[in-house]
Parts: sequence; structure tokens; C-alpha cells
Amino acid sequence: MYEFSLTPQQEMLKKSAREFAEKEIDPLVSSMDETGETPIELIKKISDLGFAAISPTGPMDHISTIAVIEEISRISPAMGFALQCLQAGQAPLVHFGSDEQKDKFLPNLSKGEIYASLAVTEPSGGSDLFGIGTTAKKEGEHYILNGRKCFITNAHISDIHMVLAKTGAEPKRYLST
Ligand SMILES: Cc1cc2nc3c(=O)[nH]c(=O)nc-3n(C[C@H](O)[C@H](O)[C@H](O)COP(=O)(O)OP(=O)(O)OC[C@H]3O[C@@H](n4cnc5c(N)ncnc54)[C@H](O)[C@@H]3O)c2cc1C
Repeated sequence: MYEFSLTPQQEMLKKSAREFAEKEIDPLVSSMDETGETPIELIKKISDLGFAAISPTGPMDHISTIAVIEEISRISPAMGFALQCLQAGQAPLVHFGSDEQKDKFLPNLSKGEIYASLAVTEPSGGSDLFGIGTTAKKEGEHYILNGRKCFITNAHISDIHMVLAKTGAEPKRYLST
């Protein structure tokens, strides 16, 4: 059974996210709405506070990330979503990256010195993960990517992109009955 009550540390984190959102994000909401732009300085501040990091067994575990996103979204749903996408950009690395990749990217990602996006959706659809058309073909030390992605949040500010691609034959579809 899941336990959703917050620990004292999570309560503190939630409180600091609320204070940050009220003080730093609220004054910018109408100009962000008018221009459609997110100030990069704001993303940097959010990252400096450690809110963009994810660490399944550390201070930014799943409940903590949701608590922070909830507080930011209370003031600006768009900013909450952008933050969630920054975290989603790190998730494949945290869960499936090699030790070398983690050492190379995670410290800078968690401090907000670089940003990552998660590129799943393609012009033909986003929900059907088995249906993606992008391929990754290994050539020597590298993979050659072929395909198109769209609607990728934070793509314009990201230094690295986590791209969902097929490396081999069609994966099996497991249908529940
Ligand atoms: C603001 C915004 C930001 C986004 N950011 C990102 C991002 O950072 N990275 C990224 O990869 N994508 C991003 N997306 C894309 C988003 O993930 C896709 O829009 C979403 O996955 C749905 O894909 P689609 O729009 O192609 O709809 P489709 O996949 O074509 O689905 C259309 C409809 O059919 C339904 N449907 C689909 N398959 C089935 C099924 N098997 N059974 C029943 N119903 C089904 C869906 O629920 C939906 O209602 C973003 C989208 C928006 C609007």
C-alpha cells in the first residue's frame, strides 16, 4: 500500500516551493502569458533550488517531485508542466543510463547547468509507443538516428535530448485480455 502523507523533509520542500512560486513566479505570470515565453532565468532559479532534479531514493523522490510540481502549478500550470518535462528528460538516464552516462550528465542536470528533454511524440502520434517510426542504427561507436519528433517541451533550451527510437525489429505488443 502507498503512503501519501508527507515526511517532515517533504513538508519543508513543499513549503519552500510554495514560497518560491508566490515570490518569484507569480509576478511573471501575466507577462509569460502575454509573450508566450518562459524566462530562462526563472528555469535557472528553479534548478538552483534543486527542484528540477530527480533522485528516486534521494531528496527528490517521486512524492517530493509531485509536491513541488503541485505548488508551482498552483501559481503557473505552464511552469509546473515545464518543470515536470525537465524531470522527465532525466528519467531515462536515471533509470536506464550506463554508469558512464550518469557520471557524465546527471551532476550537471541536477544542478540545472544543462537541461534535457524527452522526445517521444512524432507527427503520426504520441500515445502509441510501439507505433513510433524513429530508428537508431548502430554504426561503430555511435547510433544514427532517423525520424521526426514534435511537441517536445523545452527542446529549445535543452542541451541533451532523450530520444525514443527503435533499435531492431518491431517490438512485441503485449495485449492484456
Ligand atoms: C503542451 C504539450 C507539451 C508536450 N510535451 C511533450 C514532450 O516534452 N515530449 C513528448 O514526447 N511529447 C510531448 N507532447 C506530446 C504529447 O505527449 C502527445 O500529445 C500525447 O502523447 C498524445 O499524442 P497525440 O497528440 O499524437 O495523440 P494520439 O496519440 O494520436 O492520440 C489521440 C487520441 O486517441 C487516444 N488513443 C491513442 N491510442 C489509443 C489506444 N490504443 N486506445 C484508446 N485510445 C487511444 C488518445 O488518448 C487521444 O485521446 C506534448 C503535448 C503538449 C500538448
